[in-house]
Amino acid sequence: MPPTKDYYAVLGVPASATQDELKKQYRKLAKKFHPDANPNDPKAAERFKEVSEAYTVVGDAEKRKQYDDMRRLGAFGGFAPGGRGARPSGGPQAPPGGFKFEDLDIGGLGGFGDIFSSMFGGGGKRSRGPERGQDVERALDVPFRIAATGGKVPVELEVTEECETCHGSGGSPGAKFATCPECGGRGTISFGQGGFAVQRPCPQCLGRGQVPGERCATCGGAGEIRARRKVLITVPAGADTGTRIRLKGQGGRGSRNGPPGDLLISIQVAPDRFYSREGLDLVAKVPINIAQATLGSKVGVRTLNGRKVAIRIPAGTPSGKRFRVKGQGITKDDVQGDLIVQVEVTVPDKLTPEQEKMMREFAEAGGLKY
Ligand SMILES: [Zn+2]
Ligand SMILES: [Zn+2]
Repeated sequence: MPPTKDYYAVLGVPASATQDELKKQYRKLAKKFHPDANPNDPKAAERFKEVSEAYTVVGDAEKRKQYDDMRRLGAFGGFAPGGRGARPSGGPQAPPGGFKFEDLDIGGLGGFGDIFSSMFGGGGKRSRGPERGQDVERALDVPFRIAATGGKVPVELEVTEECETCHGSGGSPGAKFATCPECGGRGTISFGQGGFAVQRPCPQCLGRGQVPGERCATCGGAGEIRARRKVLITVPAGADTGTRIRLKGQGGRGSRNGPPGDLLISIQVAPDRFYSREGLDLVAKVPINIAQATLGSKVGVRTLNGRKVAIRIPAGTPSGKRFRVKGQGITKDDVQGDLIVQVEVTVPDKLTPEQEKMMREFAEAGGLKY
């Protein structure tokens, strides 16, 4: 995350918090989102990174002072542009040999120089406006038959939902709300940028126009929380490995008040012991013995919906021969596949002496050499 965000909001503390309060809150969040405590959870990892990044700056009293200067200058919403192209004369100067703004360029993601560029229309760099969160993909194993007919599969997911403590307001219970000092209650702030006025959601009040006297402790003022929930994923009929289901807004969080990304559930169909799939056709392999194959027979096969159909096997059927049952395959987008019954002739691996004798007679009668 580029350091253009409100680090106090990231940590869920007021800008007036003491260093001790910052430290305490940082430790609490770091513990909660630490990758070791949340294995294979990219959201927690991202949040941990965000929190660490914020604390790297505001947790250091000297860096925090520089950051607060930036914040007052309007990098995070309070600045009313005085004139297009205006640029602070070099910005607050770093003490010689000490911390410089460039030092805030964490992980090469763009430093304060970039903020000045986009804020004041200079530099020719790309706009650093709100950015949509990333789409997050996760795999879901789906039983063959559910994928074929459609159905629901339970999965445990981390989802974003309204904070139950504050019901989305971001204030602690009973907190008084005041007009947001950053945006004057409009909920948006505008920047002069390259001759255009760009509207952005206010980072201080998150677009609400009101700020609570005390932030909700549960959500840190965000009004929403991430929680692990058992969710039933609706798998459409005919879903195949690689089919993706999009859960809107359940992906990565946006940066600089951008909207969240989506969660993409990527289906992986588990194999079935009876059926396999060829496009919309279902293939069922059915074993028959030599007598059935040679003399002809009738076999029963279950369709996907449990119905039993009879297949007539003519005399002299070779192994691997396929019989098609129309319309009993997978139905998708109003197109019906077929059920293909493929017979596999099984050869007995053990014969009684009597069977062996008869088999020899059978062969000799037909002039077969073996
Ligand atoms: Zn809350
Ligand atoms: Zn505001």
